[in-house]
Amino acid sequence: MFCRIVSGEVPADVVRTSARTVAFRDIAPQAPVHVLVVPRVHVEHAGALDDTHAADLSDMFATARAVAEQEGIADPSRGYRLVFNVGKDAENSVPHLHLHVIGGRPMTWPPG
Ligand SMILES: [Zn+2]
Repeated sequence: MFCRIVSGEVPADVVRTSARTVAFRDIAPQAPVHVLVVPRVHVEHAGALDDTHAADLSDMFATARAVAEQEGIADPSRGYRLVFNVGKDAENSVPHLHLHVIGGRPMTWPPG
């Protein structure tokens, strides 16, 4: 599914792209800002990462920071949450690595 967004085959509300990533709004947002950052390369989930993905991961975090800045939540007085979910118990429903950037409202820990 996310491979098809990366390829442009499936439309998405893209907010930012980089050499190794595409960032787009979650279709079921859990907060005013809810963006998914995905690597262009297919990786199943965070548990499948290895050291060949170092550059992709670095770009994902740089993109997440840039998204937070452009969404106006980067300042620590606001702030945001970065989440990777792996597997069924974590409700990871899409088998392509994605980093959630969630913010724009106060959040509790642990999430419900
Ligand atoms: Zn994929």
